[in-house]
Amino acid sequence: MCRKLFTNTNKDQKSSNQDGSNGEVNLNIITRQEHTVSRSHISENALKVLYRLHNHGYDAFLVGGGVRDILLDKQPKDFDIATNATPEQIKELFRNCRLIGRRFRLAHIMFGRDIIEVATFRGHHQEPEKNQSAQSKEGMLLRDNVYGTVEEDAERRDFTVNAMYYNIADFSIHDYANGVNDLKDGIIRMIGDPETRYREDPVRMIRAIRFAAKLDMSIAPATAAPIKELAHLMTSVPAARLFEESLKLLQAGQGLATYKLLRQYDLFSALFPTVARHFTEAQNSDVEQMIEIVLNSTDKRINDGKRINPAFMFAAFLWYPLQYRAKDLMEVRKLSYYDAIMMASNELLDDQVKQLAIPRRHTATIRDIWQLQLRLTRRTGKRAFQMLELNKFRAGFDMLEMRGQIEGGPTEELALWWHEFQDAPSVHRQNMVQTLGNPKPTGRRRKRPQTKRKTTKPRSQE
Ligand code: ATP
Ligand code: MG
Repeated sequence: MCRKLFTNTNKDQKSSNQDGSNGEVNLNIITRQEHTVSRSHISENALKVLYRLHNHGYDAFLVGGGVRDILLDKQPKDFDIATNATPEQIKELFRNCRLIGRRFRLAHIMFGRDIIEVATFRGHHQEPEKNQSAQSKEGMLLRDNVYGTVEEDAERRDFTVNAMYYNIADFSIHDYANGVNDLKDGIIRMIGDPETRYREDPVRMIRAIRFAAKLDMSIAPATAAPIKELAHLMTSVPAARLFEESLKLLQAGQGLATYKLLRQYDLFSALFPTVARHFTEAQNSDVEQMIEIVLNSTDKRINDGKRINPAFMFAAFLWYPLQYRAKDLMEVRKLSYYDAIMMASNELLDDQVKQLAIPRRHTATIRDIWQLQLRLTRRTGKRAFQMLELNKFRAGFDMLEMRGQIEGGPTEELALWWHEFQDAPSVHRQNMVQTLGNPKPTGRRRKRPQTKRKTTKPRSQE
C-alpha cells in the first residue's frame, strides 16, 4: 500500500530505525512546502494553545493522531500538543488550565467542552537497576514522570506514525522515527524493541491492533511477532483502563474488523475471557454470531453519525455465555430457568468486571436488557402495552431481533410479532393481543403481509 501524503514525494527519509529494532530516533525535517498539513486542518483552540506557547518562547508541537490523521486526510479525533514548558509554566500561561494525572502530569486547557491536552516532553524513565520501583518484574512501567527533550519524547511514543511533530514555529513536520514513510506504506511499526515496549505497557498490543483496523494498515512483522506470546500480560493492566480501551477498540466505527484482528492475535480472550471460552474452530457458535451481528450494527450506527449505548454491546456479547451458565446451574443446582438466569447474571458480570471494569451504570442496563428477553415472551392482557412504555424496551427488542436472526424458530416469530406490534394502530394491537389469548381453533396462523418488512432502525444503542 502506498499513499500520497506529500507534495514532494522524492524526499524519502533515511533512518537507522527502519526495522524498528533500534530505540534511537533520527530527525528528518519536512518543510511546509513538502507536506499537506495546513493550519486550516487544526482546530482554532489547538492553534491558540500552540501560538501562546510559541509566543512565550516555548517549543510547541502538534503531535500524535492529530498530525497522522491530517496527513491521511482524516478528521483527527483530538489534538494533542507537546512542549518543553513544564506543567507549572503552562498553568501560568492559561487561566483555563487544569493539571491532571498522577503518573504523568498533564495540562488540560479547557475551552468549554473542548479540551486540548498539553504534555511536557517525557524523558527516559529511570534505569530499572537504579530504581527498582519504577518497573514491575514483568518490565511494566509503574511510574512515568521524568521530563526530557523532544528526541526522548519521540522515543517514548508507541508507533512511528504517532511520532511526527508539527512545529508551529515554522510549520514543518519533525519526523523522528521515519513515520512519514511508514504512513505512506501503511505500516504500524513499534519504535524500539517491540517486546520491551509491550512489557513496559501491554496496552500497546491492543493499540497496534486498533490503529491497524482504524487506518486500514498492516502491522510490521517484527511489531506483530511478540504479541501472541505476550497477550497474557493484558491481565496485569488495570481493569478500568481496559474498559476505556475496549470502547475505543470496539465502539469507534471499525469494531468488526478490530474484533477479527484481536482474535487473530489472541487478545480478545484477554479482554473477554467469559465470552472467548465459547469460541469455536469454525467461528460460528451462537456466541460468535452474536458478536458479529452486534458489532456490524454498532459500526453502521457510528458511521451513520448515530449515538450508541455501550451497554448494549456488552449485553449482546454476554447473552449466550449467560445461557450456558444458567443451563449448568439448572442442572447442578436444580434451579428454575428464572432463578438460574438471575444467579448466572451475577456470576458472569462479577467474572467479567475482574478483567474489564464495566461501570455499574452499564451493568444495570445490561441486566435490564437481559431481563427484557424473559419478559418479552409474556404479552397477554395489558403486558405488551406496558412493555412498550419501558425505558429499555427498544434495546430489549433490538437484542431479541438479533437473537431471532441466530436462533430462528419461536424467537424469530416473537421478534416479528413485536416488530409488527410496535408500529401497528391501536385497534390492530388489541387484536394481536387477543389472538394470543384465544388462538383460532382451526390453528390457522395469521399471515404476515406480503410487503417487504421495513428494516428496523435499532434505536437501542441510543
Ligand atoms: P486517536 O486519538 O485517534 O485514538 P492517537 O494516536 O492520538 O490516536 P492517543 O491515545 O490520543 O492516540 O495518544 C496520543 C499520542 O500519545 C499517540 O499518538 C502516541 O504518540 C502517544 N501514546 C499514547 N498512548 C501511548 C502508549 N501507551 N505508549 C506510548 N505512546 C503512547
Ligand atoms: Mg489522540
